[in-house]
Amino acid sequence: MARIVVVGAGMGGLAVAARLAVKRHDVTLCERSDAAGGMLRAVAGTDAADGFSFTSGPAVLTLPAVFRDLFLKTGAALEDCVDLVGVDPTTRCSFDRGATVVDIPNATRAGAAAAFEAAFGAGAGADWNRLMDRGAAMWGVMRTGFFEVPAEPDKPRSPAGGLKDFRTTMPWRKLRPFVRGTLRDPRQRAHAERFALDAGLDPRRAPATVAVLPYLEQTFGLWTVRGGLHTMAEALHARCLDLGVKFRMGTEVAEVSEAGGRVDGVVLADGGRLDADAVVWERSAADPAAVPGYLELHLALRGRTAGQPYRTYLFPDDPAAEAAALFGTDADGLPADPTLCVLAPPDRAPEGHEAWTVQVRVPAHGTAGAPGRRLDWTRPDLRESAVQTVLDLMARRGLPVADRLVRHELRTPADLEQAVGAPGGAVAASPVAGGQPNRSPVPGLYAVGASAHPGGGLIGVGMGAASVAELIGKP
Ligand SMILES: Cc1cc2nc3c(=O)[nH]c(=O)nc-3n(C[C@H](O)[C@H](O)[C@H](O)COP(=O)(O)OP(=O)(O)OC[C@H]3O[C@@H](n4cnc5c(N)ncnc54)[C@H](O)[C@@H]3O)c2cc1C
Repeated sequence: MARIVVVGAGMGGLAVAARLAVKRHDVTLCERSDAAGGMLRAVAGTDAADGFSFTSGPAVLTLPAVFRDLFLKTGAALEDCVDLVGVDPTTRCSFDRGATVVDIPNATRAGAAAAFEAAFGAGAGADWNRLMDRGAAMWGVMRTGFFEVPAEPDKPRSPAGGLKDFRTTMPWRKLRPFVRGTLRDPRQRAHAERFALDAGLDPRRAPATVAVLPYLEQTFGLWTVRGGLHTMAEALHARCLDLGVKFRMGTEVAEVSEAGGRVDGVVLADGGRLDADAVVWERSAADPAAVPGYLELHLALRGRTAGQPYRTYLFPDDPAAEAAALFGTDADGLPADPTLCVLAPPDRAPEGHEAWTVQVRVPAHGTAGAPGRRLDWTRPDLRESAVQTVLDLMARRGLPVADRLVRHELRTPADLEQAVGAPGGAVAASPVAGGQPNRSPVPGLYAVGASAHPGGGLIGVGMGAASVAELIGKP
């Protein structure tokens, strides 16, 4: 039994703590804030008397097998702890200011192809199937060669796998030319590219392997949890407590300490220290100069919208301009015409009302002079104009809500930075991006989280946690 300190109670830290505790290690988890879940949490103060409640962070789960495996191996099935529900349709895609709408049904290849064919005309279904076939082949290579194996300093992992797999994963190929060579309809291309934008990647520079993400969503389904996905973080927190993980909330770790060439504990920001045989540091921080953040606008609304699906993407008139505005160096201010993701859970508002959340990719937070494409999200005028811009765009794209508004809450990259310490509130959410090795060159020091191998998003941090729990104790 080893004494292990885990730094950070995000989904990566919680997952690795549970897996280590079940192996009878003595696990202490230090979390700088007062809540577990990291980016995935209930919005503080919204479970107010008026009955509206909101979740901040991820709203959907792909590849639930990652968390099914975690819950099953640490005590009881995921379905015994949370009410997992399929999201059907997975996505309503709204183009041309609401004139073209595609509802993509959950977990059916034939259904998705038929929906595209009906919306975009003959051939669009076959085009989409071609993209999915490439995604399937990439997944075949990457699952056992990249995702499910740890990265170590002497064994870095590449999504490309071995030489023989190069033709499948095409490490030289970027997503945009790959998508343009496979799909003909510009709206279908926008739908494929938004998987990169969601992950915080520029579709012009993202690898073609991002095509794995729509494949996973279509094949293994899209899921959420009744009552909000944050209840999965709460269930994982409870599981850790059951397994004897010792939580030290409000405890910031300043650095790892070493003796005799290996890790021997952590130094706390308050000057204290904890001895340990191994330290797992949750590395979620992304570079805010290169990776954008998220704007979340929570909307308490009067009335209900008949037939409103759980998730709707309202696409801009010119989707290609969005990437240029978000990742370009010469751009300034908010992207003028961003994609809006509208989340409408059916169960978070009082009778006759709705609790919606709109998520938008925006530049990360930074004050004047910060490198890269940053905005000072503490500026009241910027916050106000962001709210107005989102409401105006919703109206322009066929989903007006302004005159139904009871109240709203805005969460900017500056708020996320404050909540979880992610510099600039930048959010890396791509499980295909790779990251720091899971084992560092310093014996006893390990890394999980969105900036560690295999990458971010719930599935990335979940798979990384499984790898690290296997690594600890191995020579
Ligand atoms: C708005 C939004 C939407 C998203 N949508 C999706 C989605 O739909 N699907 C998806 O899969 N992913 C999504 N993501 C991404 C996903 O939430 C993250 O990739 C994932 O939750 C990151 O988990 P993590 O464990 O790496 O880190 P985090 O969640 O960032 O947790 C890190 C934790 O460590 C703590 N900490 C940091 N430094 C210290 C220290 N020195 N000492 C002690 N504690 C410390 C922090 O307080 C925090 O609690 C979204 C994220 C956001 C913000």
